[in-house]
This record gives sequence, structure tokens and C-alpha cells, in this order.
Amino acid sequence: MKTIAVAGGGIGGTIVANRLCERLRPEIEKDEVKVAVFDRSGQHVYQPGQLFAGFGLEQPSDLVKSEEQLLSPKARLMQGKAGEITKIDVANHALNTGDGKSHPYDYLVMATGSVLDWDLVPGLKESMLSVWDMEGAQRHLAALRGFQGGTIVVNVARLPHKCPVGPLEETLMLEDYLRRRGLRDKTELVYAYPIPGVFGIPNVNKVMTRIYEERGIRVVSPFTVKAVDPQGKTIESNEGEKLKFDLLLGVPPHMGSKVVGDSAVGDRRNWVPTDKFSLQMKDHSDVFVMGDTTDIAISKAGSTADFESYVVADNVANGIRGSDVRKEYDGSVFCFIATGMSTATYIRFNYNTPPVPPPPSGVNWWSKIAYNKLYWSVTAKAMV
Ligand SMILES: Cc1cc2nc3c(=O)[nH]c(=O)nc-3n(C[C@H](O)[C@H](O)[C@H](O)COP(=O)(O)OP(=O)(O)OC[C@H]3O[C@@H](n4cnc5c(N)ncnc54)[C@H](O)[C@@H]3O)c2cc1C
Repeated sequence: MKTIAVAGGGIGGTIVANRLCERLRPEIEKDEVKVAVFDRSGQHVYQPGQLFAGFGLEQPSDLVKSEEQLLSPKARLMQGKAGEITKIDVANHALNTGDGKSHPYDYLVMATGSVLDWDLVPGLKESMLSVWDMEGAQRHLAALRGFQGGTIVVNVARLPHKCPVGPLEETLMLEDYLRRRGLRDKTELVYAYPIPGVFGIPNVNKVMTRIYEERGIRVVSPFTVKAVDPQGKTIESNEGEKLKFDLLLGVPPHMGSKVVGDSAVGDRRNWVPTDKFSLQMKDHSDVFVMGDTTDIAISKAGSTADFESYVVADNVANGIRGSDVRKEYDGSVFCFIATGMSTATYIRFNYNTPPVPPPPSGVNWWSKIAYNKLYWSVTAKAMV
């Protein structure tokens, strides 16, 4: 019996487990292969919906489903203490879990995602409303509903973070939201970003900078937040800028999952060193890494994890079957970018081809909504 352990049952872990169950169906049915998914919560959160929840366009309860509902019945789900990974023991090819057990594996897929590192910036947690967590999305909505005008700063604390286009979307949706509520003339909107411009990819930066100018959004960059004063309502940067705000929205610093650090398998920020083509952990050919967990300089996005899942599932299945055929990840990413409350554009790119966002349209907006809805029945279940 060969065991494939999948660490993390979020977007990446769920899709790859379902794909593996499909690819290895005959071997699983003959009890020659086992796919086990370890997730401490057992709850699957569709995080892209949190942006919409922050504007009252999604109900938080619609963004969470039990992992059991999404996983193939051919996969074994370990949840609660039995699913809580306490150590990733790559030297001994095993996962240790919160119930004191050790689970040997033949192949490991690491998909434990990223976490918010609020403590890196003094005062940030007390001041920033962030849709990057579910509870924050609800407070974001309440604050917007109570807002009557003033200065709103949207700040990205550090790169990388999950959904790199998310802050662009939040800012442009906010601008539209304020116009629709008749508050745009009473509001100064400031975007404080840690690198020059509004986004790291030149084509996207150019298009988005023009949209920001047309919409009267002030850009302050580079702005690397040093500290926030919750009482004085100011945010200060390492570059020496100090901005006043009535509302502070945005993205806190991110790092890889704590268990990566506890297991000493990551870098300084708990990202796991990963080959950008094979998606194998460096120096460990039986370990694959995907989604937010990797240290690859590519968007941390659900779509990235989805594209990566084809490569990981095929290569693990081929390895199990003794085949030398290997696929390579080409760096594919696809993201819709909301440019208001009813329009969107998108980017599609890979390691060799940079993105060229088309003009925003209502069709793209509705495609984004449709994608979000189809996530549960199509994407998560690896139907395509
Ligand atoms: C506001 C927002 C908007 C977004 N919008 C988009 C978008 O439009 N398009 C897009 O493609 N992406 C978007 N994303 C990004 C996307 O949600 C993430 O990139 C994606 O979820 C990453 O998948 P993952 O499997 O790597 O991690 P996750 O989905 O975060 O899953 C990680 C899993 O690992 C589990 N885990 C962690 N540590 C342990 C442990 N020690 N033991 C057991 N289990 C553990 C967690 O419980 C979790 O279930 C958005 C994210 C946010 C926050």
C-alpha cells in the first residue's frame, strides 16, 4: 500500500486530493493506494468570497462548507486533533498529528497555506479592517455602512500576500461603493503600497495607475508601514510618510503556516523552498508543494493552486505507477480583477507571457460572480 498524504484541506489540498483520487481510482479501489487529507478545521473556507462579504455582496455562511462535502469519498479525511499537523518530518517521511500519532507517507503534498502576521506592525491589528480574514470582512462591512465621509487609507503592509490583485479590487469597489452612496465627494481615498506604483507587474501597474488617476485615488508609494497609532489614527511608513485616516482598510503581513516553521522546513517567513517547474520541495523529491505554501515568486492565488494541481497530481500518479514521465508547471495564473461594483477585467499569464488586462466590462464582472458560485461544484471537486 502506497500512502499519499495531503497536508491542508484548503483550495489547493482539496483540488489536488480530488484529482489524485480520479487519476488513481483503480489503485485506490484495489487498496494499493491511499489518499489521506489532514486538515485541523475540517471546514473549507472559500476566501475569495470574503472580499464580496466585505461589501455585503456575499453572506459569510455561504463561504464555508464542511471539507467532507467536497472531498472525493475515495479520500480519507483526518480532521480535528487527528488532522492537526504538529510536525512535518521530511527526514523520516511522516506527519505527526495532534492526537500523538505519526503517519508515514510515500508522497507528501504540502498545502498548508498562509497566515496573517498582524504582530509584525505595532498597532495594525487594533486599527485595520481587513477582508483577508472572515471576521474582518464582517467588521469591514459594518464600518462601511456607518461611514459618512472622511479619509480612507487602503494599505498593503508587505508583499507577498494572498490574492495580489485583491487590494486593487477592494479600492476600486470601494470607490464605486462611495459614489453609489453619494459619499465620494466627501471622501479622500488613499492607496499606500509597499513598492513603487499600485502593482508589481508593469502592464497591470500601467493600466491600473490610469484607472486610479481617472477615479481620483491618491497613490502613496513606496510605503512600507512601520507602525499605526490607533488613538491618533495615523499610519507611518519606513520611508518617513505619516497619513491620517478615518478608516484604515487593507492587507496585513503574511507568512507561511506555523507548522512549517515549527518543522524547520521553510525560510525565514515560513515559505517552503520549491522548484518552480517540478513543484517538488528542494532536496526532497517525495514532497510536492503548492498554493500559498511555496516560496515561488508567483501570485499566491487559488487559481495558482488549481493550475499547479494538474502537475502535482500527474507527477505523483506517474511516480506511483513507476513511470518516468513528468509534467512541469509553466507559472500559469488567472485572476479576475473587479474594477467597481459591476465591472471587472482579468489577467492571465505564466512565467514567459506577461498579462495584458482587457478593458473592464460587465461581462467580466458576471463571469467572476459565476466562477465564485461554480467553485463548490466544479473547481473544488476537480471536475475540469
Ligand atoms: C480576500 C481574498 C480574496 C481572494 N481572491 C482570490 C481570487 O479572486 N482568485 C484567486 O485565485 N485567489 C484569491 N484569493 C487567494 C486564495 O484564497 C488563496 O491563495 C488560496 O486559498 C490558497 O490555497 P491554499 O490551499 O494554498 O491555502 P488555503 O486555502 O488557505 O488552505 C490551507 C489549509 O491548510 C490548513 N492548515 C494549515 N496549517 C495546518 C496544520 N498545522 N494542520 C492541519 N491543517 C492545517 C488550513 O486549515 C487550511 O484549510 C483570495 C484570498 C483572500 C483572502
